[in-house]
Amino acid sequence: MSIADRFSTHSVENQPPSLAPYDAYATDLPLREALAREGGGWAEQEVAQYGPIVGGELMELGVLANENRPKFRPYDRYGHRTDFIEFHPLYHRIMQLGIEHGVPNFAWRHEDRPGAHVARAALAYLHNQPEQGTSCPLTMTYACVPALRHQPDIAADWMARITSTQYDARFIPASQKLGNTIGMGMTEKQGGSDVRSNSTRATPVGASGGGQLYELVGHKWFFSAPMCDAFLVLAQTDAGITCFLLPRFAPDGRHNAIRIQRLKDKLGDWSNASSEVEFQGALGWMVGEEGRGIATILEMVALTRQDCLIGSSGIMRQALVQAVHHARHRRAFGKQLIDQPLMRNVLADLALESEAAVALSLRVARAIDSSARDAQEAAFARIATAIGKYFVCKRCPPFVNEAQECLGGAGYVEESILPRLYRQAPLNSIWEGSGNIQCLDVLRALAREPETAVALFAELDAARGGNALLDAEVGRLRAELSRGEALEVRSRHLVERMALALQASILLRGGNDRVADAFCESRLGDAHGLCFGTLPSSASFGLLIERAFPAQT
Ligand SMILES: Cc1cc2nc3c(=O)[nH]c(=O)nc-3n(C[C@H](O)[C@H](O)[C@H](O)COP(=O)(O)OP(=O)(O)OC[C@H]3O[C@@H](n4cnc5c(N)ncnc54)[C@H](O)[C@@H]3O)c2cc1C
Repeated sequence: MSIADRFSTHSVENQPPSLAPYDAYATDLPLREALAREGGGWAEQEVAQYGPIVGGELMELGVLANENRPKFRPYDRYGHRTDFIEFHPLYHRIMQLGIEHGVPNFAWRHEDRPGAHVARAALAYLHNQPEQGTSCPLTMTYACVPALRHQPDIAADWMARITSTQYDARFIPASQKLGNTIGMGMTEKQGGSDVRSNSTRATPVGASGGGQLYELVGHKWFFSAPMCDAFLVLAQTDAGITCFLLPRFAPDGRHNAIRIQRLKDKLGDWSNASSEVEFQGALGWMVGEEGRGIATILEMVALTRQDCLIGSSGIMRQALVQAVHHARHRRAFGKQLIDQPLMRNVLADLALESEAAVALSLRVARAIDSSARDAQEAAFARIATAIGKYFVCKRCPPFVNEAQECLGGAGYVEESILPRLYRQAPLNSIWEGSGNIQCLDVLRALAREPETAVALFAELDAARGGNALLDAEVGRLRAELSRGEALEVRSRHLVERMALALQASILLRGGNDRVADAFCESRLGDAHGLCFGTLPSSASFGLLIERAFPAQT
């Protein structure tokens, strides 16, 4: 017997094989169905192409990019101030793959085709599964376009680079690059949700007004992806809060005076950086009407809020896939975990939640897509984005925790992706308007834009007769909304119920009766507990799990 044999203490058994590489699109029936249902089917080839990359190279890159945090290099070796953040080369590779496959640009490159935003939403949903840090600049780059178009001359100059499929990581002036990325700066120390408290001042360098150059003095408390080529920021002029496009390099080619103070030591991904900055006379162009900055930047915020909903859905999907894969390959007490009745309930319940999340995400994307052509869809997008962001982002942390638990101790160890997903899970509920702000926004929409209530109930009524529980819930919602007192304090509960009713309505029209009925029974009826894994015993556990992630994978 060799020495190696004598000291071989154990063989590794009953551990699952690696999930990756897998095809993250082909194995996702709820996504494929939603893409077709919401009008993005014509782009299936482009979305499908990203599936094996997401489940392959990006899974690997995501691990490595998050092991190598960005480094803040305020000065170069000769002592010149540079305010440079050094990202890991694999972060740049992830950005390159995302941009090449259209994550930030697909909707704008195919703007004339209905459904382009739906296809882009599917790409973003996929991208969020293996790596979330890069989703921040990719989202902001996608979302800046409607706000930037408030200043047509600036939009004409920047659009080709913002919608380019080439990623250019060089730290040089934006106009010399093959592609640009865009960030945003609203939040200041004294107020984030309450942006009216912004104190950064802007004064004209020469002529004043839209498209003119201003000098900005002030600070921003959160300023993510600080190596973006430019940022849409808010600052005060004599006319009030106004939107500006602030480039990293000033028009004369020198570093703009955007001084990075430090990087945030934050929860969540470690591949991307968020920073605190001071504007020490930084130069930027006014975008849109002076004094109307909040309205202008809200056009960007509407799309980043949509992406919070999509991002949380993507995180949940990755957690679900990991859980199902593990349970399929792990035995305990004489059976595969996936065959243990109680584990089947947990996995099926997670699958149902995940399917409802992606269904709502792509429905909201279709409403955004149709907004310019259809007033009712525009009203629906207005209210459903806030409802969806509130609810799905809130479901994400407990969802990831439950999926993590399916892996047992292995789900708590950093070598698995679950701890990374768990750290990231709360982000989307805080960023871009926290939970209360979303609920207040729903109330504001209902009060100031009555057409949003019409659009919401039209969507709910479209499934009338499909399930008695939904019919009853829609009736109750109508009654409760008409009872005007104490609306603000009741708004979380109301918005939660709107979200569930919306998800039920979409699933009922999706044509999968057993999925929709299980959702209605568990989420609208009283046949579900507070935790996941509490579906009624009548649920089609096997079907729900198999739809979510089929066995042959
Ligand atoms: C990782 C990360 C990256 C970020 N990146 C950026 C960025 O790039 N650019 C940027 O501009 N910002 C960024 N932010 C900031 C983020 O958008 C804000 O933190 C968020 O909008 C909340 O603002 P705040 O932190 O000032 O909290 P506050 O506004 O003080 O809110 C605190 C709490 O009070 C609640 N609240 C506020 N008003 C009310 C009310 N009237 N009634 C009831 N409750 C209320 C809020 O819902 C929240 O729960 C980032 C944040 C994070 C965590």
